[in-house]
Amino acid sequence: MSKIETRGLRVSFGQTQVIVGVDLSIPDKSITALMGPSGSGKSTLLRVFNRLIELYPEAKVSGEVYLDGRDIFKMDVVELRRRVQMVFQIPNPIPNLSIFENVALGLKLNRLAKSKRELQERVRWALEKAQLWDEVRDRLGAPAGKLSGGQQQRLCIARALAFQPEVLLADEPTANLDPENTAKIEALFLELKKDMAIVMVTHFPQQAARISDYVAFLYKGQIVEWGATRDIFTKPRHQLTEKYVTGRL
Ligand code: ADP
Ligand code: MG
Repeated sequence: MSKIETRGLRVSFGQTQVIVGVDLSIPDKSITALMGPSGSGKSTLLRVFNRLIELYPEAKVSGEVYLDGRDIFKMDVVELRRRVQMVFQIPNPIPNLSIFENVALGLKLNRLAKSKRELQERVRWALEKAQLWDEVRDRLGAPAGKLSGGQQQRLCIARALAFQPEVLLADEPTANLDPENTAKIEALFLELKKDMAIVMVTHFPQQAARISDYVAFLYKGQIVEWGATRDIFTKPRHQLTEKYVTGRL
């Protein structure tokens, strides 16, 4: 069964429709790349999946979205956001807060650790999962802002993983990183997908080709094509997809 499923999803800002009837399945334990030109609605679509879209009062959402077959709009939003975590293009740890506290904060606020020891264990677990532990274990008390950009992004991933999410949404997570750090995040995602569904927005077709299992190609708020990554790149059914993957769109 799909981890996330949308039916007839629409989003508009005032008179402008930016998601225009999207039916999409996100399979579990795999990476789905959401591709498409700038302004096609990729970020908006991700923001629906954890209902972050509700922070935009001018956004109007209709249609259905299911997580494990349950209507997300009828779920407790705190529960939803625990299960569906998100990382952004620009790493956004709280810079003055320590590396440890950046990961621990959400666990504390949600009372997810019963003791100080459990909190420490969960923070360590998340940092290990994000492949950052070895680099920060000796300076957990240092401000997060002192880390490099690539480390800050892995810290944000650790912060998300601390909730043991079922879905990780990533909005162009490597767009601000150099090739070395990009490769680290890509390798990390390939590990993480064993335990969760990952939806990654990217505007690098090569990145989708390298690490995704499925591609959804979005154009002007509609899914033009969805399928296994290999098929999308070797035998695209739609001319727009072909143009996009060959860099002509
Ligand atoms: P992408 O991530 O694919 O570049 P977005 O989802 O950010 O696209 O945006 C899709 C469309 O919705 C764009 O035309 C953008 O201008 C518009 N849009 C996004 N957010 C808002 C908003 N808060 N108010 C009005 N229009 C918005
Ligand atoms: Mg975007």
